Amino acid sequence: RLLARYPPDPHALLQILRELQALQGWLAPDALGQVASELGLTLAQVQGVAGFYRFLHTRPVGAYRVLFSDNVTDRLLGSEALLADLCQRLGVVPGQLSFDGLVSVERTSCTGLCDQGPALLINHHQVLTRLDPARVAHMAELIRARVPVPQWPAAWFEVQDNIRRADVLLGAPCAPGAALTQSLARGADATLAEIKRSNLRGRGGAGFATGLKWELCRQAPGTEHIVVCNADEGEPGTFKDRVLLSRQADAVFEGMTVAAHVLGARRGFLYLRGEYRFLLEPLQAVLQRRRAEQLLGTHILGQAGFDFDIAIHVGAGAYVCGEESALIESLEGKRGTPRIRPPFPAEHGYLGHPTLVNNVETFCAVAHIAQHGGALWAGIGTPKSTGTKIHSVSGDCARPGLYEYPLGTPVSRLLADCGARDTQAVQVGGPSGVCLAADEFERRIAFEDVPTAGAFMVFDRSRDMFEVARGFAHFFAHESCGFCTPCRVGTALLVKRMDKLAGGHGSRDDLDVLFELDRLLHSTTHCGLGASACNPLRDTVLKFRPAYEQRLQSLDFEPGFDLDAELSIARRMTGRDDAAAHLENRT
Ligand code: SF4
Repeated sequence: RLLARYPPDPHALLQILRELQALQGWLAPDALGQVASELGLTLAQVQGVAGFYRFLHTRPVGAYRVLFSDNVTDRLLGSEALLADLCQRLGVVPGQLSFDGLVSVERTSCTGLCDQGPALLINHHQVLTRLDPARVAHMAELIRARVPVPQWPAAWFEVQDNIRRADVLLGAPCAPGAALTQSLARGADATLAEIKRSNLRGRGGAGFATGLKWELCRQAPGTEHIVVCNADEGEPGTFKDRVLLSRQADAVFEGMTVAAHVLGARRGFLYLRGEYRFLLEPLQAVLQRRRAEQLLGTHILGQAGFDFDIAIHVGAGAYVCGEESALIESLEGKRGTPRIRPPFPAEHGYLGHPTLVNNVETFCAVAHIAQHGGALWAGIGTPKSTGTKIHSVSGDCARPGLYEYPLGTPVSRLLADCGARDTQAVQVGGPSGVCLAADEFERRIAFEDVPTAGAFMVFDRSRDMFEVARGFAHFFAHESCGFCTPCRVGTALLVKRMDKLAGGHGSRDDLDVLFELDRLLHSTTHCGLGASACNPLRDTVLKFRPAYEQRLQSLDFEPGFDLDAELSIARRMTGRDDAAAHLENRT
C-alpha cells in the first residue's frame, strides 16, 4: 500500500524507508527486498541507504525508542545523570534493547532544543523538553505501564520559541504574498538586482553572496531549475531555524517562491532535519493554505506561466546532510555523501539540474528584501556584513533563546543581554566555528571578524574547556560519513588521543599528535566536516592550555595502551603466565 503511494522512483527511496519504518517499527530484510524490487534497485543499494541514516533501523527496536539529546549544553544541564536514572528505572543498558523488546535508550547528536534542555526524542516523532528527575521518573512509569506516547502529559511536549530580542526577521509576521506581489511587479531582473543591492550573504556559515549565487544558477543551462531550502540545521547549539519554521514559515516559503520567480523554477524542496519531524504537519498546513491563496501551484497570483510548488523532504538523522551537495544526494534518495565539486549545485544539482540551495534564514531575509527593497537591508549592519543575524544562545546564561542583532554587534553585547556571568568562553558558530576567550569578547559578529551560522554557546568559569572540546571531538567522529580516509580515521584518532588525555595518560607527545592531526584533516579531507573537526581542539589548546596540561602524565611520552595487558590473550592461548611471559621482566 505504501509503495503504491509513490511512483516507482528510486529517488523516493529515503522517504519510502522512513514511512515504512513508521508503519512497521523497523526495516526488516524482506521489506527492504520488496522495496528494492519495486524500485528497480539492488538490495545492496537499499541496505546501503538504510544503514547510513541514524534514524533508520535495520534491526528490531523497542516500542519506545528514547533518544537523549547529547549536546554539550544538554550535559551542562545534567542529561547524563537523567539518562542513567531512566536506564536504571527501566533496567536497560544505554544503546541496547530491553530484554522484553519494550524500550531502548540511546544518545543522539544535538536535537536543536538547547534553550530548553535537557531534551529527548521519543519514537522520532515527539520531543520532550526541560527534563528533570521527576519527569524522568514519571516517564519510566508510563513506559513500564505501556501508556501510548500521545496520552502522556501534553506539557512535556511543549516547545517554546524563546524569542528574546527581535529585529527585522523575528519582529513581525510575514504578510503572505506581500513580497511576492512586489517581486512580480518589479519583474525577475529587477528583483535579482534588489537581492544584489542588499549585499545579502548566505546565513549557513560560508557567507557566499546570495545575489551572485542566484545569478550563477539562473545563467546555468538546463531543462529546469530547482529551488531547495536547507532546513537541516544540525550544528550543535543551533536552533533558530526551528523557530523560524514555526513562526515565520510564510516568510521561508515566500522567499523560496521569489527565488523561483527569478530563476524560472517550477519545483522546490524543503529539506527538514529528522529531529524536526514534529514540524512537518504544521508546515504542510501552511503549504496547503498558500496553495489555496494562489501563492503556490499554477498561475501564482494570477500570473500565467508562473507555476511553482514545494515538497517537504524529511531527513533521517545525518549531520553531514547539512552540506549542500550531501543534502542533494539525500534528496535523490541516496546516502548523504558530499559530492566532488566542481561542478557546484548551482550548475549541476538535483538530478543534474541547476539547483539553488539557501538556508531557512537566508530565504526569510530574501522575503524581507523583496518586500522592502535591498537598500534597507544594506543599511543595516556593516558594509561587508549587511542585515541582521539570529543567534541561538544557550549554555551558562540566565536567558537562553533567540537574539537577533544587526551584524557587527560585539560578543559582549550578547553576553550582557542573555544574562551571562563570569563567562570563561563562548563557542560561536558551533563546534566547527570558533571558541572565544574573555579577552576577545569585544570582537564583532560579522563575516569580517567572527562569522557564524548562528550557534552561541556560553561557558562560565566552572566549566572544563578540555571536556567541552572532547565532547565536540566525539561528535565529529560520530558524524563522519566515512567516505574519505583522513576524516574517517583522523576523527577516530582524535577521539582516542582526547580520551587518553582524559584518562590521565597524556603527554606532550599527544598534544603534538593532535596538532599534526589538525594539519592533516585541514588539508586532506573531502568536505568541511573533516576540515573543521579539529577547530575546537586547536582553539582550546591555545586559549585554555592549563586544562590540557593538568592532564599530562609525563612531559615526554606516555603509551596509549598497556602492552603487557594486551598480551594477556596470547598468554592464555599458550598456557603461559610465568614471570618471563610478562614484559616488565624482560630486558
Ligand atoms: Fe565524509 Fe568526513 Fe570525508 Fe566529509 S570529510 S566526505 S564527512 S568522511
